[in-house]
Amino acid sequence: MSRVYNFSAGPAVLPEEVLKTAAAEMLDYHGCGMSVMEMSHRSKDYQNIIDTAEADFRELLNVPDNYKVLFLQGGGNTQFAMVPMNLMKNKVADYILTGQWAKKAAKEAEMYGKVNIIASSADKTFSYIPDLTNLKISDDADYVYICQNNTIYGTTFKELPDTKGKTLVSDVSSMFLSEPMDVSKYGVLWGGVQKNIGPAGVTIVVIREDLITEDVLPGTPTMLRYKIHADNKSLYNTPPCYNIYICGLVFKWLKEMGGLSVMKERNEEKAKVLYDFLDASNMFHGTVVPKDRSLMNVPFITGNEELDKKFIAEASAAGFKNLKGHRTVGGMRASIYNAMPKEGVEKLVEFMDNFEKNNK
Ligand SMILES: *Cc1c(COP(=O)(O)O)cnc(C)c1O
Repeated sequence: MSRVYNFSAGPAVLPEEVLKTAAAEMLDYHGCGMSVMEMSHRSKDYQNIIDTAEADFRELLNVPDNYKVLFLQGGGNTQFAMVPMNLMKNKVADYILTGQWAKKAAKEAEMYGKVNIIASSADKTFSYIPDLTNLKISDDADYVYICQNNTIYGTTFKELPDTKGKTLVSDVSSMFLSEPMDVSKYGVLWGGVQKNIGPAGVTIVVIREDLITEDVLPGTPTMLRYKIHADNKSLYNTPPCYNIYICGLVFKWLKEMGGLSVMKERNEEKAKVLYDFLDASNMFHGTVVPKDRSLMNVPFITGNEELDKKFIAEASAAGFKNLKGHRTVGGMRASIYNAMPKEGVEKLVEFMDNFEKNNK
């Protein structure tokens, strides 16, 4: 067996220990005589799996008691609709545009109410986070929406916007559990797990209890109401059982690693290896304003499309996979999530250095 270094933005690398545990438990989960995939979601064994996953997640992220943690389906794109359908009581919301995902979220919300774009970095292909001082928060806004780590462009909010008391909603998909967060600063934070937590098919929503009400937009389907999932502890219908189980194994792994402060340090060290190289290289350049650089997604270019292509092909042949940038940006992108070992980044940098020397 040989495993590659997988720099995919998502679905992405998972901890090898987790995959091994899953493999070992595949045919017979803890003496049940069946795999987790084959279990009733109403069984005691499964209840224990989902309860433990939620408890470990809460412990890792230090989720306050007045927040619900929901394991939902439909991916990030479903949250683009669920957020306005459940929160747009005045039918007004403020959005900060920092990339494709924030744009898509804003566009979806426009179906339900008035969307005010209060800041944007579209003018420079989203290569920076807009100035957050003196944001024109709308008086009647139901919430202020951000995409906190921009998977495609490689920017991240180093501080949160002052929402002047309005509910902050944040898409944290590509930074989920990569560092500690102060959950109490958010009304809702949510993320698809396929970036930094687990297999595609689960979206974790952390939502303050007072925002969970029956008072949703008319026509909101039952499955798109936060309340139905909160009241039923994420078991209103059949959840993505196996995927939640894998997330649970990743939470155990994160706890064993020392929790989110340790992960943050590791992620900072890892990203520094790559950014330091990019800053020193004459061939490879980062595309993001240094102060807004993401620890998770690192886009870079050579400035020559042919050379980019050559690099991606040679890197792939050498076992560094999925380095092609997003189709809307081009160039390269290395996603270096929690499960990417520092060694993977060091080896990538070594490879880039050799490539640079060989292609002068
Ligand atoms: C990948 C991603 C999404 C979209 O997630 P889907 O599960 O594919 O709908 C949304 N937001 C961010 C920040 C992402 O990285």
